[in-house]
Amino acid sequence: MHTNCNFIYKMILEKINELLQQVDSLEAKNAEEVEKLRLKYLSKNGELNELMKDFRNVPAEQKKEVGMKINELKQRITDRINALREACTTQESGDEAIDLTRTPYPIQLGTRHPLTIVTNEIIDIFSRMGFVLADGPEVEDDLHVFTRMNFAADHPARDMQDTFFVSQHPNDVTKNILLRSHTSSVQARVMENMHTEDGKLTGPIRVICPGRVYRNEAITARAHCFFHQVEGLYIDKNVSFTDLKQVLLSFAREMFGADTKIRLRPSYFPFTEPSAEMDISCFICGGEGCGFCKHTGWVEILGCGMVDPNVLEQCGIDSKEYSGYAFGMGVERITNLKYRVSDLRMFSENDTRFLEEFQAAD
Ligand SMILES: [Zn+2]
Repeated sequence: MHTNCNFIYKMILEKINELLQQVDSLEAKNAEEVEKLRLKYLSKNGELNELMKDFRNVPAEQKKEVGMKINELKQRITDRINALREACTTQESGDEAIDLTRTPYPIQLGTRHPLTIVTNEIIDIFSRMGFVLADGPEVEDDLHVFTRMNFAADHPARDMQDTFFVSQHPNDVTKNILLRSHTSSVQARVMENMHTEDGKLTGPIRVICPGRVYRNEAITARAHCFFHQVEGLYIDKNVSFTDLKQVLLSFAREMFGADTKIRLRPSYFPFTEPSAEMDISCFICGGEGCGFCKHTGWVEILGCGMVDPNVLEQCGIDSKEYSGYAFGMGVERITNLKYRVSDLRMFSENDTRFLEEFQAAD
């Protein structure tokens, strides 16, 4: 009996030491695994209760020593499991606090396209002079692109070779559908909608029309099948050529510098009479003459003129009572002048190395 009791004493101490060694290496990834550990060690059928069954058979004189060991073991297992449970809870509530609006990768901020930068600058300048933005469709009918703009029926711009037609109906200008070849179609739409039955304006028209236009051209460094324009239109009573010249001078000075001079040369457009091309003094050489201005001291930037009375009448406005001016410029042309982009194709190639060059300009 004594030997048997001694054997139990030794056996239980060995078991306790074995379990004590395991305590620190107990691990749990989640609450479920913590619960499994609790069941394994601390539940009714767990390891500790198994020890307590053997403890009954430990000799009385060794009960105190073994009892203390079992208490130590129980305390350490309880502490370890509580610590693991706490770690899991913290981790899980941490998961809930994740900011789901954050992207997993950093957002790379782009830059504005140079044509957008310049268009915005042009719009800003004319807005300060009282012009408001007007917009219209890029897929237009002949009526607004050509007929209302006083283009003759046999004008070469109506030719397939110059314009992209979507559908053609030779005898109906409203069914001749095409990609607009200029933003003047927007002017036509504005004029149509700004007068009464008897041709009176409902208010002065002072609009700026930016947008993309299309021409059937071979793509080279100097020409493209699409480009961008900004056109302006002002119609009221007693509008004169002097008003036009003053507005364009203010624009040129704001856009290219306070010392900029302008000159107007006679020209021809179907929709204006008289018509002019406007040059600005070369801002590279200051008008002295250089390679950039082909030694003339002047650089061409836009076309302009007084709105042809036929255009006013076409759009339902009384040309005896009202007059107006219009002007139009190519955004690519202005951008090339400001930033010396030598190849038009670079604007539509989407090469980010080129576009990033304009980061500081915006
Ligand atoms: Zn020059």
